[in-house]
Amino acid sequence: MRPSKRLERIPPYLFAELERKVAAKRAAGVDVISLGIGDPDRPTPALVVEAMQEAVSEPETHQYPSNRGRDDFRQAVSDFYQRRFDVFLDRDAEVMPVIGAKECIFNLNLAFLDEGDVALAADPGYPVYTGGPLLAGAEPVLMPLLEERGFVPDLEAIPAAALERARLLFLNYPNNPTGAVAPEGFFDRVVRFARDHDLLVVHDNAYSEITFDGYRAPSFLATPGAKEVGVEVFSLSKGYNMTGWRAGAIVGNPDAITAYWRLKSNVDSGLFEAVQLASIAALSPDGDAEAAEMCSVYQRRRDAVIDALREAGVQVTPPKATIYVWAPIPAGYDSSAAYCEHVLEEAGVVISPGGAYGPSGEGFFRISLTTPDRRLMEAVERLSSLGR
Ligand SMILES: *Cc1c(COP(=O)(O)O)cnc(C)c1O
Repeated sequence: MRPSKRLERIPPYLFAELERKVAAKRAAGVDVISLGIGDPDRPTPALVVEAMQEAVSEPETHQYPSNRGRDDFRQAVSDFYQRRFDVFLDRDAEVMPVIGAKECIFNLNLAFLDEGDVALAADPGYPVYTGGPLLAGAEPVLMPLLEERGFVPDLEAIPAAALERARLLFLNYPNNPTGAVAPEGFFDRVVRFARDHDLLVVHDNAYSEITFDGYRAPSFLATPGAKEVGVEVFSLSKGYNMTGWRAGAIVGNPDAITAYWRLKSNVDSGLFEAVQLASIAALSPDGDAEAAEMCSVYQRRRDAVIDALREAGVQVTPPKATIYVWAPIPAGYDSSAAYCEHVLEEAGVVISPGGAYGPSGEGFFRISLTTPDRRLMEAVERLSSLGR
């Protein structure tokens, strides 16, 4: 048995070694606290669970869904975009359900990339922006996100040879792993750039509903001209504590959505209708209050983590959004991986090495705020006593 060459192009899973060490520690009786993965600890809001319970008891929801999705689901997404972002979406041409943002982003690679094509991917970034192009037989080209530029890519610095072959541009604000938000004017520059270079922009909007200090994240599609050059992938996973449900939507350019639909109809059979019905409840005005409640939980945790890190001498900017704190590793370590190993070894705390998200993530570590307050504070206490 031999796996495909395509599969062999994927770099080894960088967390594998860390996971092995965590398992060994736990087996040895160490109380390991994980601040690694970004997976909300709070339950899915009751209004969503109740809508699901009702929907799943209806036999009509049990059959194959259509890939295009239910009318009422697409309408709910359209209403949400209007209310939340002031963006009009034609529910029939500009909205489709996705089985989580990850499915959508991966399949967009298959729908838009041929051999020799390039996808421009944020570095550090969500792994599918590089794994997707590789599995599609194309080439990811990294756009470094540097702290001194506010963690947005320098579009002018993209090598001309790569730009000529580029078909897709992946962006994600509010950003994982850096916690950065899109600065004023950035999306306008992206629209002009995409037009000039004939790129499809894929804006991964996994975190717009988790924001702090009064900041409200815009949709990329609220930028004039964005719908001509791009799509946005909206996910319910993080904002509504629904990671296991696999629910989201692709919205924006109708031709891009049609291409995605053609591809997808050969790959899967759509989003479970009961999950579509539950998602309608999440996206209703009542759902807004649930998302707002989660913002206050994460904001409180963020503040506590930032205070503790600062006390330990780690210079860190409080993020305006997301469930992550992104901070520089202390001096004296060869790599972010070495620092994270040391933290696991000495403090029994799992944090993510920045280098695992791309070469420009080197020198940083990521803390996820998705751990109950007391455990999170204990983990941060352990971290800061390491630093003293
Ligand atoms: C968590 C995450 C996703 C995954 O979203 P799903 O809808 O659960 O597939 C996508 N993009 C980013 C940047 C994420 O952090």
